[in-house]
Amino acid sequence: MDNIFDILIIGGGAAGCSAALTALNRGKSVGVITNPVETTALYKAEWVTNYPGFASVSGRELAENFFEQMEKAGAVIIKGRALSVMPFGDSFGVAVGNVFYQCRTLIVAAGITREKLYPGEAEFLGRGVSYCATCDGMLYRGKKVALLGNSAEAAEDAEFLRSIGCEVMEFRENVRYEIKGESKADTLVYKGEEYKLDCVFIIKDTVSVTHLVPGLEYENGGIVTNKDMSTAVPGVFAAGDCTGKPLQLGKAVGEGNIAALSACGYLDKVGK
Ligand SMILES: Cc1cc2nc3c(=O)[nH]c(=O)nc-3n(C[C@H](O)[C@H](O)[C@H](O)COP(=O)(O)OP(=O)(O)OC[C@H]3O[C@@H](n4cnc5c(N)ncnc54)[C@H](O)[C@@H]3O)c2cc1C
Repeated sequence: MDNIFDILIIGGGAAGCSAALTALNRGKSVGVITNPVETTALYKAEWVTNYPGFASVSGRELAENFFEQMEKAGAVIIKGRALSVMPFGDSFGVAVGNVFYQCRTLIVAAGITREKLYPGEAEFLGRGVSYCATCDGMLYRGKKVALLGNSAEAAEDAEFLRSIGCEVMEFRENVRYEIKGESKADTLVYKGEEYKLDCVFIIKDTVSVTHLVPGLEYENGGIVTNKDMSTAVPGVFAAGDCTGKPLQLGKAVGEGNIAALSACGYLDKVGK
């Protein structure tokens, strides 16, 4: 295998696993960039009674089985959070921390995030708001930064930022922060108090799909797809909850399958 994946999948839930299995069956090289299985919607379902083949099964068991099956079938599992996708002509680069992975086609199967963006987050992303301490920390050496997040990853990132010389204010509560500024973010509002700073690092499990891939179209919060799960961006397909309602397991698995077949067809057409 060369160092470019035929297909990279963002999200290892039901849709992503289904897509990976089908693409592997078609002989494609497949990488799956994903948060841990515990973050999938299915893992949180107590009992599932509408999935054919299982009269009653816990969501956790099914999610773990999906994940294991995908791994054993040969998918390269890239543990981490995809931060951004960059089109490079006839391929794509996906940033995970400060590592870039390349692929010929991309399947977005990132589920939905129920977390709302903070006011100012989208506006200042890349201008004093960052999702990645490893990538952007060095730009703020000797400067004052805020770190929002209550995960173990957030705690590690705070330590890392301190170790490279940033002055770090940690905010661990799950409250509504606001980010303000002129040409770039310079103020964090927390419980009515204003904190002056140079950058706000926001460490969440997911990145809203609306910020992940440039050029996608959205309707009612879901990625707009055609019947073959292709999107407005050639070479990018989407499947599962991230394409909108119904948010159901059967739909996620079915769309994952269609997205993979369409991605394979796309690769065959362009001769890859
Ligand atoms: C409590 C609950 C009960 C349910 N019960 C049922 C039921 O009984 N029957 C039924 O049909 N459906 C049920 N559902 C719905 C069903 O589980 C979902 O529709 C389906 O599992 C969605 O799969 P998905 O792959 O699209 O998304 P997800 O399972 O959400 O998978 C997406 C994965 O991508 C990861 N991810 C997101 N962004 C990134 C990123 N930037 N980088 C890396 N990884 C990323 C996420 O962390 C997650 O691991 C239930 C859902 C819930 C929450």
